[in-house]
Amino acid sequence: MTSDTADIPLCVRCSRSRKTCCQVSEIYCGAADKQRIAEYTGRTDFYTFVVAEGDWAPGDDDPPWRDLAFRPDGSRRILARRADGDCTFLGSAGCTLPMETRPLICRLYPFDYDHQGLRPQLSHHCPTQLMKPGETLLGALDMTREVAERWRAQLYRELELERDDEDRADLRPAQ
Ligand code: SF4
Ligand code: SF4
Repeated sequence: MTSDTADIPLCVRCSRSRKTCCQVSEIYCGAADKQRIAEYTGRTDFYTFVVAEGDWAPGDDDPPWRDLAFRPDGSRRILARRADGDCTFLGSAGCTLPMETRPLICRLYPFDYDHQGLRPQLSHHCPTQLMKPGETLLGALDMTREVAERWRAQLYRELELERDDEDRADLRPAQ
């Protein structure tokens, strides 16, 4: 890293060297995320349902996630992406949504977690080789475990709102 690039945030350095998390990820958009984004943008075309495959598929180790995020056909609501794979909210200077409107999944990245809490290890996708000497990944991303745990708890609390969502008749008893 040169002195010219030392002050550039890690996510910008990341975007200059490779595809970022906003360009390669399938982002679950919860029922409450959907409401917040719709209110902020006035849009309704920002999500779609896609069957989860491979790493995205649910496991039995996280029952609330498996049972509430996914429909019986294995699909879950995710942010729509452009033809090139980029999230439709990705702008030239990063995410165009304010933090309090971004899907909780985005806010939590690169934490890994389940219904019981945050896991000790962070996701391996961030380019730690681009960090400054002595920098930690959480420091570079301006994140803390305390705030992440709050968002994780909110994510699992809001999973329950799927039961009332218009797209989730599968979670309600047949009339
Ligand atoms: S969070 Fe990690 S993968 Fe995403 S843009 Fe920032 S450095 Fe890159
Ligand atoms: S909503 Fe924002 S943070 Fe989340 S994937 Fe899209 S551009 Fe990235």
